[in-house]
Amino acid sequence: MSKHNFFKVQGGNFPSEDQVLDTKTFYRNAVEIYKRFDDWKDIDKFYFIPLYMEMTYACSGWVAEIARDPVWLGTFVRNTIKHRDLFTYKCPECGKTVLPYRYCGSPLSGRVDLEGYCECGWKGYEEVSGWRVRATALRDEVNKDKFRHFKFRLFHPKSAGTVAELLSFLELWSIGDSNP
Ligand SMILES: [Zn+2]
Repeated sequence: MSKHNFFKVQGGNFPSEDQVLDTKTFYRNAVEIYKRFDDWKDIDKFYFIPLYMEMTYACSGWVAEIARDPVWLGTFVRNTIKHRDLFTYKCPECGKTVLPYRYCGSPLSGRVDLEGYCECGWKGYEEVSGWRVRATALRDEVNKDKFRHFKFRLFHPKSAGTVAELLSFLELWSIGDSNP
């Protein structure tokens, strides 16, 4: 069963092609987006950009999730920065801290891959153990943002931005350029 079938079967959030592409835009620009967190963290339409990172796993009839898709961009970035001991690691090439753009793993193996890249050009992932503690940390942070999200949706229904719009706001990319 493919990931997308899984969402259909569960009646969960089924990402559009554009939303999946927008999540990939986040992957490519994660280092800059982390760096500029203070510039956009108070702007709800950017904070609540939905990311579809496929952090939910179906294992023979039961579902395990680091977090259910979508995870809000602001929550994900804040979670990584806040829990550095759990979600960041040293670049094996230059020793700088890598802030990953994606976590994936399995509760069966207990391992998590923290996928990221470094400003020096290194790209890859760090494999760590401790699936449960990471899943718990991220879910707690999602829960903390639920009230803010509720207020945002109440006053601004369907106005979450996109990663491309955020990059444009940060003047890292102009609308019209291809492949941000
Ligand atoms: Zn490096």
